[in-house]
Amino acid sequence: MANVKKGKKRHHQVNERKIWVYVFAILILLILIWYEHYSAQQEQNESESSNYYVEVEDESAPTVSDKEQLHLHMISCGQADSFLFEQNGQYALIDCGTRSTGKDVVEYMQKIGVKELQFIVGTHPHDDHMGGMETVIENFNCKQIYMPKVENGLITANWYLSLMKHIKRKKIKVTNPKVNDNFNLGSARFLVVGQLSSKEAGQNINNYSTVIKVSFGEMDILMTGDAETTVEEKMLQSNVSLDCEILKVGHHGSTTSTSKEFLNAVSPEYAIISCGIGNKYEHPCKETMTKLKKGKIAVYRTDESGDVVITISPNDIKFNKSQGDYIDGPTLAKKKGVA
Ligand SMILES: [Zn+2]
Repeated sequence: MANVKKGKKRHHQVNERKIWVYVFAILILLILIWYEHYSAQQEQNESESSNYYVEVEDESAPTVSDKEQLHLHMISCGQADSFLFEQNGQYALIDCGTRSTGKDVVEYMQKIGVKELQFIVGTHPHDDHMGGMETVIENFNCKQIYMPKVENGLITANWYLSLMKHIKRKKIKVTNPKVNDNFNLGSARFLVVGQLSSKEAGQNINNYSTVIKVSFGEMDILMTGDAETTVEEKMLQSNVSLDCEILKVGHHGSTTSTSKEFLNAVSPEYAIISCGIGNKYEHPCKETMTKLKKGKIAVYRTDESGDVVITISPNDIKFNKSQGDYIDGPTLAKKKGVA
């Protein structure tokens, strides 16, 4: 009887040891699985951050001879943006006006003899920036389009879906810009200095805006689309020099853009604003105009002056219009008898 008991006890001990070995093995396995998952996550995070936002290297600007000029046409297209660049007979467009003012942009380009566009940048898929693109590519041969990638289904507007089909039908190459991408128009260099990922921009379409620094000799122009302060903060955190002679004021002079810190970093001599007279958003806002006035930054606006042409030489900038007042949108509308 005693032997049987002893045998059972030994058997129990063996079983217990086995169970502990199993528990230990499972524990090790769990730790290994967790570690594997953790390092994969880390890797993904690292690659995401390097894909979407890296420290910007501001390469040296291309050399420009003293005789060369870059022309920037701020085309009056209502409460919208459209900027035409010309260098050495080549043209490129940043934004195209709205669905209804795209034809004004086309007429303007026909009037000055544009034959084709090297590229178009659609800063972000809002009607007042990309609504006129279909009309533009219907009238001008365009080699390439840059536009931010947005999640499938985020933009359901008919004009956008129609534009996408139209681009496909025309077989125009589309590139989604990334920070540090650069492309040239003659001797002018276009460098992408701001581009949030869809994860970072979320539901705010303005924050998809591609921000481009255009350099021509010693002169720099910052084209911001409707980028809001979230994008501005990202750029301030990066290594890029934001210092520019001309600032295309973000989001038509809205309070959502042009933070004090950002304006200090750009420290422009000139500010350009495209907006429609008497627009319902009251752009440009008083707050923004006050900041520009305090900074003694000369302002040129389409609601005040219509089309504005800027001639940029490697060491000089000239405007074809005289500089505007620092009054906000509604005050200007009242003054002109529009509101
Ligand atoms: Zn806009």
